[in-house]
Amino acid sequence: MVQFTGGCLCGTIRYAVNAEPQRMHNCHCDTCRKVTGSAFATNIFVAEDDVVITQGEPKSFSHAADSGNTVVKEFCANCGSQLFGHGTGRPGVKNIKVGSIDDASFVQPVADLYVKRALPFTQIDPSLDGFDEMP
Ligand SMILES: [Zn+2]
Ligand SMILES: [Zn+2]
Repeated sequence: MVQFTGGCLCGTIRYAVNAEPQRMHNCHCDTCRKVTGSAFATNIFVAEDDVVITQGEPKSFSHAADSGNTVVKEFCANCGSQLFGHGTGRPGVKNIKVGSIDDASFVQPVADLYVKRALPFTQIDPSLDGFDEMP
């Protein structure tokens, strides 16, 4: 059963996710800021096998994370929209950038990561768990 669908800005890449998200959190690290072009990223974690690319083929870019793990970002080569990330630190798990989801009204982050790097204007919900770095 399809739980939710998403895609990039230009419509070249489309995906469907067939499972409930495992975790959802906001990340205020420098990498998430750079890659999203926004103040922070909201990431939805699902099992890699539950993400089905229904159209197009994302391009990928690999880099080293703070932890030393290799992290891969997947995006549309045509419009540049960021779609997914995965890394050697969490094999078999993919994160989905919330902005790529068609109807993300179900999303409720449970934690904020890298709070100490959050931009001064960012409002952090005090009812969520907050971590200075990656817990
Ligand atoms: Zn695109
Ligand atoms: Zn981050």
